[in-house]
This record gives sequence, C-alpha cells and structure tokens, in this order.
Amino acid sequence: MSAHSLRCRVCEDVTVAEPVESCRRCSGPTDVLYDWARIARVVTHGSVAAGPPSLWRYRELLPSDTRVETGAGWTPLVRSDLLSDALGIDLLLKLEGENPTASYKDRIATVAVSAALDHGVTTLCCSSTGNLGDAVAAAAAATGLEAIVLAPAGAGPAEVAARHPGARVFAVDGTYDDCRRLELELGALFPWGFVSGNLHPYASEGAKTISFEIAEQLGWELPDAVICPAASGTLFSKLAQGFAELTRAGLAAEPVPRMFAGQALGTSPIASAFDDDRSVSRVESATHFASLAVGDPSYGDLALGAARTTGGAIIAVAEDQIIAHTSLLAETTGVAPDCSGGAALGALVEAVRRGDIARGSRVVLVVTGTRPSAGTGLACAIKVGPNATDVLTALGLSS
Ligand SMILES: [Zn+2]
Repeated sequence: MSAHSLRCRVCEDVTVAEPVESCRRCSGPTDVLYDWARIARVVTHGSVAAGPPSLWRYRELLPSDTRVETGAGWTPLVRSDLLSDALGIDLLLKLEGENPTASYKDRIATVAVSAALDHGVTTLCCSSTGNLGDAVAAAAAATGLEAIVLAPAGAGPAEVAARHPGARVFAVDGTYDDCRRLELELGALFPWGFVSGNLHPYASEGAKTISFEIAEQLGWELPDAVICPAASGTLFSKLAQGFAELTRAGLAAEPVPRMFAGQALGTSPIASAFDDDRSVSRVESATHFASLAVGDPSYGDLALGAARTTGGAIIAVAEDQIIAHTSLLAETTGVAPDCSGGAALGALVEAVRRGDIARGSRVVLVVTGTRPSAGTGLACAIKVGPNATDVLTALGLSS
C-alpha cells in the first residue's frame, strides 16, 4: 500500500492513494497529498544533489514508492545566445528532447509505471497523439508491463508501433477525444492502469520535476518567466505547481516565475478564456498540429489560474506562426523541435513584443520534445473503431 494520500480538489475528502478515476464522494479530480513537514525536514539542496542524474533525485516530492529508472529527467538547460540577442532577454532552453523517447512525456510515463507497480497494475493504457504513446510503450517495456496505446488513425500510430514492437498499438478510427472515451469503456471492463485516468494523479506529477531541475540548474534561483506549449494544460499547471512546491519546501525563494504558454490558434480554449477573463469551455479542435489538438483541456482551469496568479498569460499562436517559429528554433539552436516548441517560441515572441516580458528578463522556454526518429520494427498498428468491442476482439478477449 502506498504511503501517500489523495485529496479531492473539490470536496477536499482525503483517501489512501490507489488508482481511482475521480473522487468517490463527488467525482471531482484528485491530487496527491504530501507530508510537507517531513519534506521540510529531509529534503535539502545537498540531499537532492546526492541523488541520481534523473527525476528520482526529487523522489521525496514524487508520489510512488517504487522508482523505475528509465533515464528520464535531468535534461540540459542551455542558453540560446542568438535568440537572447534577438529578443533582448536572457533566454534559456530546457531541452526535453534529451529524454529517452525524446519528449517530457518520459517523466510522466516513468512515474506512471512506478505507480502501476506500487498498486499491482500489470497493463498500462494511454491515448496518444504522439509522444505519450512512445513514452508509455518504452517505460512499460523497461518494467515488463503490458502497454496498450490508443491513437487516432491520423496521428501516426503505425510509427509508434514500429518503434515499440512490444506494445499493442491501436489505430482508432476517431479523434483523441474518442480515444479518451474508449478508455472509459475499457476501464469499466478491466483493472488496467490508465495514464490519463486512474493513474493520472500520480503520473502527472512527473512533469513538475522540470521546474525542480530548472531551479537547481540555476543554482536554486528561480527565473523571471517560464514559457511552454499548452494543450490539455497539464504541463503548464504542473510547472507552476513545481515552482510553488520549491518555495514551500524551502528550496527556493519567492517570487515564483511568471508563467506563459502558447496554444495553437485553431484549438485555443485556454487562451481565449484568458483573453475573455472567463472559465474554460470546450471547443471543437481545428488545428493541424495533432499534439496541440485538445479541445476539452482537463487542466484548463488550473492552467488559467496559474497564468493569472503569477502575472503571466496564455497566448494563441496562428498556424503559420507555429510553423515559422518551429523552423526559427531549429535554425537558431540546432535542436529539431516538434511543433509544440514553435507554439511556445511564437508565444514568447508575442509576449516580448507586447511588453508582457520586459527586456533583460531571464526566461526559460521548455522545448517539450524533438521529432522522434523513424522506427525500425516490423509491428503495425491494429485498426479499430472507437468502441470497446473492436478492441476486445483484436485482443482475443471477446466471448
Ligand atoms: Zn470530492
């Protein structure tokens, strides 16, 4: 049994940590509860520095007792001289493409498989438009867990299958939101772990280790502003949470960084809510960038709150600007970012142009991933409709 607890974000009911989709009392979302008095006693700059060169150097601030080492985390933080000069700021890039499957999702998958082992879960399932499927398939392979990846047929499932022949990859004839609904159907039938469902309170905690590393790599001084792409809003919210936890644990001094994010204009429910000063409402997705196409962002309101309370902003970036800034990032830094990096850089350029980020500020841009290489395996994705019956038949589990 896990030493951690879960607390409902709505009714604040506290329960022992176990895989649950939502609060049993009110169906609200749940968060891991930590023992902050203990953390303040045992976690120091020295104890962190003595840890491994991976996200587990922050193990006391993570929610699993099992710690699967996949090599995720402790990615480089490098200054971009060219972009710093061009924008008149001190710009550092957090290179998440250096993780094992080339995106920050390896942090989430690593904590997900660790939590799965804590709770006796043997099959991991996730919906993915790209990076999460790679990360979960790789982390599951490293632990002997079975991985099931549901990917919209248009989001490259064959490539994920080719890179990870041990995973069961389904090409779902539908959207990402259809894949998430399919997860709920499957969850009612099998005791699987769902990375964005019953394991999400644990798995998502992996993302905040990016903030811990940024602070540690800057000598425990927090930058003036941090900027990242936003789709579901989870990364953005967890980055903000990470900085708040560092100050709470006494590892860094306030103020926390101002938090900025870029969304694709074609699917920008959080950015439009920020502009209109209202809560987030669902939109139909109309961006061409699959990894940014989340019309119903699960962490949208938390992301909004983080932008507002830190004095940041969520900025919509036009499709052609995402392409242009993805190229600019590649041309000026040598990293080959996916389109999410272009969304973040496009938003940063706009924030500087508006004067939201002052000249001379120290800014960290999270380059969430790089384009993964082509696979070499021979496996292929299994085509299914967006329903559990098709999946069960393909798995040989139908009656
Ligand atoms: Zn509740």
